Amino acid sequence: MALRTIREIGDDVLKKVCKEVTEVTPRIKTLIEDMFETMYEADGVGLAAPQVGILKRLVVIDVDENPIVLINPKIVATDGEQTGQEGCLSVPGKCGDVTRPNYVKVVAFNENMEQIEVEGTELLARAICHELDHLDGHLFTEKVVGPLRTVTEEKEDEE
Ligand code: ZN
Repeated sequence: MALRTIREIGDDVLKKVCKEVTEVTPRIKTLIEDMFETMYEADGVGLAAPQVGILKRLVVIDVDENPIVLINPKIVATDGEQTGQEGCLSVPGKCGDVTRPNYVKVVAFNENMEQIEVEGTELLARAICHELDHLDGHLFTEKVVGPLRTVTEEKEDEE
């Protein structure tokens, strides 16, 4: 496993639409391992492949010590609404309030290319929406309600 470099806002790779994964090759398996390592090292709760410069529809999420791999994810249901603070490992030192669904259901493939369904509420729902936005070239900064704030001393959850 190896740490990957996290691309930051201003890098064109973060604005691109990612391609579907057709096969989980050894390279993709290594990418998944590296993405988890990179995310944990950076104290994040989610990381999308374009954030490490790979334009593939692949994200890793871990909001509660339950690692989730989502390949070619699609949101198939949403419910409710939540507005809360969000940050991003690609937008270091900044945070802002974003409104997201309070519940999402996503259909995806896991690292063995088996179809899975993941449901999440609150932080997990927020993380799923945030990470899936990355796959279409969107950052949370486009959706912030009110000002983008500078993160103060207090440690924030970054996605
Ligand atoms: Zn992000």
